[in-house]
Amino acid sequence: MGMVRFVPDEGLWLKGNLHAHSTLSDGNLTPDRVIAAYEERGYDFFALTDHDYYARYAPREKMILIPGFELAGYMGSKRVHLNVFEKGPVSRFAQGQRFSIQDEEETRAFIEEYQDEYLFMLNHPDWSLLEYRDIEAYDQFFALEVMNWGTEYYDGIGEGSYFWETGLRYGRRWGAIATDDNHNGYTDEPGWPFGNTGNDSFGAWIMVKAKVRTRQAIIAALEAGHYYASMGPEIHSFTVEDGWAEVHCSPVSRIIFSGENRNLRRRLGENLTHFRAPLRGNKEHVKVRIIDEKGKTAYSNPIYLKDV
Ligand SMILES: [Zn+2]
Ligand SMILES: [Zn+2]
Repeated sequence: MGMVRFVPDEGLWLKGNLHAHSTLSDGNLTPDRVIAAYEERGYDFFALTDHDYYARYAPREKMILIPGFELAGYMGSKRVHLNVFEKGPVSRFAQGQRFSIQDEEETRAFIEEYQDEYLFMLNHPDWSLLEYRDIEAYDQFFALEVMNWGTEYYDGIGEGSYFWETGLRYGRRWGAIATDDNHNGYTDEPGWPFGNTGNDSFGAWIMVKAKVRTRQAIIAALEAGHYYASMGPEIHSFTVEDGWAEVHCSPVSRIIFSGENRNLRRRLGENLTHFRAPLRGNKEHVKVRIIDEKGKTAYSNPIYLKDV
């Protein structure tokens, strides 16, 4: 027993986007330009995840680069997109290697072959029209996209929390990731690439609590679930102790604790930065969602009560 924290006390918060495209697939900015833009914006880490294309990029002064790609595969009756992140330091793929998965058998074989050295994330489940049964045979996802900003901004279909909640109820310990999935299109608009109406960068990200500022520490934090997803608000701490949940955050207008059977507790108001409440029937987990006055949301990963 005692207090359980959603991330460790020690370490540093690092901001990152784990889903982005460049001219090497269907994005509109060169790898260099898109990486530099996120670096200038203050992001600490970044994964350029072009479609079915593996590449490592030269180390940057500030930004930590995580090699990865977006793999198109098949699960159930559906086409799926999985982001694949290299744990490192050794790569199993050649620079510029392309992939072309033809069916579900190849998808399963790929995952089984590489699951020890790579992390697999389930991308934009709603945009992919997925139902839980399509993917229930796979237990390799460390996380899914609870917010895929590009598809949310353009088409209102990037929010994956229904899918996430379903997986949690089935016992999947998926983390919740928010990404941009930016393609930087609408190239003919004034202000392009980042000042135009169609800008799909800088809308959603994760904050990782890493021991140190290295790729290895970020990967370890991803595997341990030590991060939260956000479109703006900040979760400073989230703890469970003696049947009570408590959160400290940046100013928001709604704070909601939930669990596997809803088990809701909420606080509504202006400039709320703190909420403490007794758990309500939570057996498996408790998590917190905070929403600011513009509707921007942050999602914590669950605290699993069996681990408390
Ligand atoms: Zn995709
Ligand atoms: Zn994508």
